[in-house]
Amino acid sequence: MTNVVDAEALILDLMPRLPARTLPLGQASGRVLRERINAERDQPPFDRVTMDGIAIAHRDWENGVREFEIVGIQAAGAPPLAITAPSQCVEIMTGAMLPSGADAVIPVERIWRELDKANVEVTLEVAARQFIHPRGSDRLAGSTLLEPGCRLGPPEIAILAGAGRFNVEVAAAPRVAVISTGDELVEPGQPVAPHQIRSSNDWGIAAALERHCGATVTRALLKDERDLLLARIAELHDENDVLILSGGVSMGRFDLVPGVLEQLGVALVFHKIEQRPGRPMWFGMSRDSKPVFALPGNPVSTLVCLYRYVLPALSRALGLPVAEQEQVRLAEELNFAPDLTYFLPVTLTWSADGTALAWPRPTNTSGDFVSLANTTGFVELPRGTETFPRHFPARLFRW
Ligand code: AMP
Ligand code: MG
Repeated sequence: MTNVVDAEALILDLMPRLPARTLPLGQASGRVLRERINAERDQPPFDRVTMDGIAIAHRDWENGVREFEIVGIQAAGAPPLAITAPSQCVEIMTGAMLPSGADAVIPVERIWRELDKANVEVTLEVAARQFIHPRGSDRLAGSTLLEPGCRLGPPEIAILAGAGRFNVEVAAAPRVAVISTGDELVEPGQPVAPHQIRSSNDWGIAAALERHCGATVTRALLKDERDLLLARIAELHDENDVLILSGGVSMGRFDLVPGVLEQLGVALVFHKIEQRPGRPMWFGMSRDSKPVFALPGNPVSTLVCLYRYVLPALSRALGLPVAEQEQVRLAEELNFAPDLTYFLPVTLTWSADGTALAWPRPTNTSGDFVSLANTTGFVELPRGTETFPRHFPARLFRW
């Protein structure tokens, strides 16, 4: 049996890098960037006015001028006007380029107009270069704005647009086959007999994959029949980058998955992890270096293994850096001593001092996935501890 830390490391080390592809900017949200993005121009590209008002020469102000002659009106997007003589000003709008000869802006709230004159409060303090966002003060042209491996959220998408990019190189969406095995399984929408159950694992897995890594998911429901499993898993392997199976990895007579995978040339990396739930998890690499995760079928185990191992592995394959571990504290004392690493479902609240508190939400066995409703995720508790006191720190995995 492999321990949790080794299992994670073995998986991460073997993850292939998924290919990159070019996408239009409008489809890139949530993807992982795979190229460096440099500034197209200085940022901002010109001395940008940050207030509606008048642009003046600060020397005039120092010389005591309080009434300025308005020589023009300049909107954002207009080429710059010029101040060419003392006491002149340009009526200016936020976002406009600073007129030549001007080096300070006085906000509109501080002036009053009389015909073509702008008068300013005599006692106002006016600093040189006030209300000007200087050219290149954020970034210079050619400097790096985004590094490969960053997740493209709303700010990053805006930065790409600001850099003039309408196409961007991102990690390709992983093609993932999500395969449920079990003679008892029936699709939602189909009639279900008393001795059968609904297949829910594949739906939960597919939802997680879509949310966390934009995967293109093919679901398959397969009976526990060796020849059928051999044929369909081989096809799904050829058509996908990653295989995630659920069910059929324990010690029962119809737990055919490990044997079938090895027969298909998938090299076993480990079988069974020192953890609860999810102990029977199986992991291997195919001859084409495609990862194959075979998760136990009990629904809580399936989701725990997915979040603890599979999703971090897919993040690695997409090119994301290792995420910082989110730590929370147990909201109440737990009086038990797990002999294996223990994954406990929790709901999060915050105390007045900002501590994230994890309230245990244990399930009735690893088959009870309905008790996971409205939980935040689960915490990882080490084995060999006698009791877990209140405020015990634990790593959180969020759904
Ligand atoms: P197994 O790992 O195949 O021994 O399955 C363990 C338990 O998980 C059994 O009670 C199965 O019925 C249940 N199970 C297996 N696959 C699924 C699935 N796709 N959806 C819901 N429950 C499942
Ligand atoms: Mg089964």
